[in-house]
Amino acid sequence: MSGYDIIFAGAGHNNLVTAAYAAKAGFRVLVLEGAARIGGNTTCEELTLPGYVHDPCATAHNLIQSNPLMRNNELDLDRYGLTYLSPDPVFTMPFLDGASITMWRDLDRTCAELARFSPPDAKAYRELLADWDVMAPVVNAERAMPPQPPNEVDALTRQSALGDEMLTIRRATALDIIKQRFREDHVRAFFAWIAFMTLHPLDESETGLMAFSLVAGRQRFSWIVPEGGSIQLPMALARIIDEHGGTILTSKPIVRIDVENGHATAVETSDGARYQAGKAIVSTIHVKHLGGLVGEEHLPDAYRAGVARWEPNLTMFATHYATSEAPRFNTERGAEPSVTVGALESLEAYDAMLAAYRSGRIDLKEPVFLALTPTVIDPSRAPAGRHTFKLVSFLPYELAEGPEHWDQVKGEVSNVLFDRFARLSPNLSKSIVLAEHVNSPLDLERRNPANWRGSCHGGANSPEQSGYFRPVEGWSSYRTPVAGLYQNGACTHPGGSVSGLPGRNCAGILLQDLGSSLQEAIARKDTAKP
Ligand SMILES: Cc1cc2nc3c(=O)[nH]c(=O)nc-3n(C[C@H](O)[C@H](O)[C@H](O)COP(=O)(O)OP(=O)(O)OC[C@H]3O[C@@H](n4cnc5c(N)ncnc54)[C@H](O)[C@@H]3O)c2cc1C
Repeated sequence: MSGYDIIFAGAGHNNLVTAAYAAKAGFRVLVLEGAARIGGNTTCEELTLPGYVHDPCATAHNLIQSNPLMRNNELDLDRYGLTYLSPDPVFTMPFLDGASITMWRDLDRTCAELARFSPPDAKAYRELLADWDVMAPVVNAERAMPPQPPNEVDALTRQSALGDEMLTIRRATALDIIKQRFREDHVRAFFAWIAFMTLHPLDESETGLMAFSLVAGRQRFSWIVPEGGSIQLPMALARIIDEHGGTILTSKPIVRIDVENGHATAVETSDGARYQAGKAIVSTIHVKHLGGLVGEEHLPDAYRAGVARWEPNLTMFATHYATSEAPRFNTERGAEPSVTVGALESLEAYDAMLAAYRSGRIDLKEPVFLALTPTVIDPSRAPAGRHTFKLVSFLPYELAEGPEHWDQVKGEVSNVLFDRFARLSPNLSKSIVLAEHVNSPLDLERRNPANWRGSCHGGANSPEQSGYFRPVEGWSSYRTPVAGLYQNGACTHPGGSVSGLPGRNCAGILLQDLGSSLQEAIARKDTAKP
């Protein structure tokens, strides 16, 4: 089969972003997705009962809000059915001692919450946000373009109004920043929890900016969720692709990428079909799997050595529930439902979680939790009056007994986590649970091969795997060693999360190589009703 200019391997949101720009620029695109539905980690499924729409992976779409795609409405996604909802409160953090801190959309109200614990910490929060306002343009610009060499990143960092101080922040650990800026224990736990939400271990160097960016993003955009579920983002992108003559096929796992004379020419799917790519192939297949599909002999030693060194990042353990009522959580105001709830007792509990994680132990004494009840703001996701509830914790993929051990213990682990978390709620008990579905770290990899070793963000965002070094030094500009083959998605700069930034950056490079540009794609404003 032929007739396509560009073939996209995988229909996660990043590849769909790139495909949408390419289709708008006039290229004939074909997207092949291995799973039965599009979206990858931004898909939705009725995991528990019919009519209950769960986000098996991502729920919050925060990072994409700073992407020029959204900021400048480059793709008119709202016209294609995408609506974002911004919960208020942003999130609630109850503690076992009965205290709680709530982030409200209104900054003064959030500061009043912090001031109940420590007036200097409330002041420090305003200062932190003001510092971020100075640093954000540098960081946002850096993320929205192909990565620069480290010395250029340092030079741009120094040019910010904070000068060398920004460089110091950048190189620090987020935990050190939090300890320097905040005094009270609950407040410190509050900021550590939010800074951890992209799963970078906060005790590692060069995580300093996390202490700013995540909290500022939530304060500005709330815990923003798409109405109807996470899949609404890929669905809107798919409508653009469709409207511009592109094709998307699901249940098409790619098993081979053909290379002729050093050039990627076609892909083969598990059903034996072969699709010729006239100009390019763009892949979100995990870098650890790419060599097997392309043929290792087509990849130079330096590239293969870089991929061999690739490390996974932290992963999650998630149980999804259909419930007869919304869980309520203890706050100073009484028990309330909240779209998002965080639980971290102290910085010591955070250290203990990381230590257990790193040694492959399932430690359930004082777990760190993220809990989501999107139906509190979006009743369309469940039958009238009912709710979807997701309880996430952070447990290792690698266990001493091997990752397969998860299949034996996941039910029991899920129940213990539920009971531990239920201590923060007066009504969360199995009596309101109608059905449940457990995803261990191993299950996350099974549901999406891009979650290699459970990695929820492609792989660690350590200094060795960030920016100019992601995925491998020399090939961080979305091009690969194989001509015409591009790498996209969470394994590329600036990494995982629902940011669409790898997708937009990759589109810029791809279109430039093909004699077009992002600007050309954007300029083609569509007037037809999708
Ligand atoms: C449990 C969980 C919760 C998360 N929560 C959040 C959150 O709330 N907010 C947030 O910002 N981020 C979250 N993340 C991270 C975020 O979802 C991902 O980093 C992001 O969605 C990755 O997007 P992507 O387009 O790069 O890749 P993916 O979404 O992983 O898409 C890759 C696609 O390629 C397909 N594929 C792979 N191999 C093949 C093949 N051989 N042939 C054909 N198709 C193939 C896969 O099936 C998949 O559809 C979460 C991740 C997980 C796992």
